[in-house]
Amino acid sequence: MKYDLAVTIDKASGFCFGVVYAIDMAEDILDEDEYLYCLGDIVHNDEEVKRLTAKGLRIIDHEQLKGLKNEKVLIRAHGEAPSTYQLALENNLILIDASCPVVLKLQNRIKNSHDEDEQILIFGKHGHAEVIGLQGQTDGKAIVFQDLSELDEVELPSKFTLYSQTTKSTDKFYHIKEQLIGRGYEVKANDTICRQVSNRYGDLEKFVVDFDKILFVSGKKSSNGKVLYDVCKKYNPNAYFISNIEEIELEWFSQHDKVGICGATSTPMWLMEQVKAKLESY
Ligand code: SF4
Repeated sequence: MKYDLAVTIDKASGFCFGVVYAIDMAEDILDEDEYLYCLGDIVHNDEEVKRLTAKGLRIIDHEQLKGLKNEKVLIRAHGEAPSTYQLALENNLILIDASCPVVLKLQNRIKNSHDEDEQILIFGKHGHAEVIGLQGQTDGKAIVFQDLSELDEVELPSKFTLYSQTTKSTDKFYHIKEQLIGRGYEVKANDTICRQVSNRYGDLEKFVVDFDKILFVSGKKSSNGKVLYDVCKKYNPNAYFISNIEEIELEWFSQHDKVGICGATSTPMWLMEQVKAKLESY
């Protein structure tokens, strides 16, 4: 049986400008040089990382960075803590800084709050590179939490400043703010969620309702991928999360289904096109 699926890619999905900037920078250098070190996955998408490592990108972690000297190293869009820049100076490394301007601005705001002796709380994912970079602006003093319940274990001052990792859910951020105010704290809340992510909620909401099935394409490590997939699932319960074409299951579909494809800010358009081609072959 031929499935004859009618497949459409969401034009508003795919790389945000921060990711485009970092990948363009890496590719420009790789056009000239044989290899380029990159601190951490350049983007939370394994397929795109594979494409770039085949061109000479060498992904290293912070441990490996310590042993590197006299080399060029790319800093990805998530940004880095001040200690990384210090290490680069000591090891004579040339940093190619592709930190996203939105993240740099947030680092700056957090640093200023810290300099003003404010107690800082960051709503973000533990261990996420961006969050480590943000916490690094405060000498590690900012309290990071990803769930309100984690704060039950912590003794908080009566007054503090709240920030968010750029890719968190806006709804959750405002819920947390209200809850903390309700508990009697004086909260100076800064909604620092990137509009490249939050502006997509409304677009996705409108896109997904027009289809029988939705395939949301994203790397499993992508924070904004999780948030945006939740939006899809809320407005179209027949939404499936996949990271590559091997994860597509034929049994999800019925004949003549209208299928929409969308993705995260770290999902390359070429990968969504591969998914489309695969579906059209059924
Ligand atoms: S989601 Fe926003 S903050 Fe993150 S890299 Fe993209 S533009 Fe920058």
